Amino acid sequence: MADRLRVCALYPDLMNIYADRGNMLMLERRCAWRGIGFELTAAGLGEPVDPDAHDLFYLGGGQDRDQKLCAQDLVDTKREALHAAADRGAIVLGICGGIQLLGDHYELGTERVPGIGLVDLHTVRSIDGSRLIGNVAIEVQLPGLDGPRTLAGFENHGGRTFLATGEQPLGRVLRGHGNDGRSGVEGVRRGTVIGTYLHGPLLPKNAWFADWLLATALRIEPAALAPLDDALEDAAHQSARHAAGV
Ligand code: GLN
Repeated sequence: MADRLRVCALYPDLMNIYADRGNMLMLERRCAWRGIGFELTAAGLGEPVDPDAHDLFYLGGGQDRDQKLCAQDLVDTKREALHAAADRGAIVLGICGGIQLLGDHYELGTERVPGIGLVDLHTVRSIDGSRLIGNVAIEVQLPGLDGPRTLAGFENHGGRTFLATGEQPLGRVLRGHGNDGRSGVEGVRRGTVIGTYLHGPLLPKNAWFADWLLATALRIEPAALAPLDDALEDAAHQSARHAAGV
């Protein structure tokens, strides 16, 4: 097993609207408690990324305005590297604004914000400006885990995301709106490329998922990670599930 987790946070100053730093902190803590090193690198506007230098790339949530700034930059300076990273099995995790930019495009009225096409989906901003807001819970099946698990979080998006035929969602909506408020599915997962609208932030509310990401990024089975005392994390998870009504 690698002795450290190497994380690259994409645009941490612009795409961070829902406490995305909490997700980084969660990964850092869970590594530290197990004696696994943790390396966090930031890549902002105009800065290229090395596809081989990181195990997990993180793209957080953003307002439409900030997303637009990042979208073209992603296409111009990071698209190829992120494709190469995904091809070699690195995790690419996009949350909220992030999932929208992992797809083909984000339609904002007459404007078409480009995505990097790591997954086949597109997003359309609602014409009346209405947002899909609230606590949400989804049921998820992931490789290396014995059965379905629940992810709980909070969603707040104006965009409706549509998966192309054959593209798999991250999970099935138990409570909440999900990708578009109708399809009953949430997020996307193609191998190690994952997108979701769940934030709040996501990982402190779902320690099991933080561990799954960590293990997958380090290329070990989740069960091979040393167990931790998760009394507080379990309470946070239960509270988030309760808020969603699950
Ligand atoms: N700007 C996007 C939307 O409203 C994403 C918002 C977010 O990241 N919370 O759909």
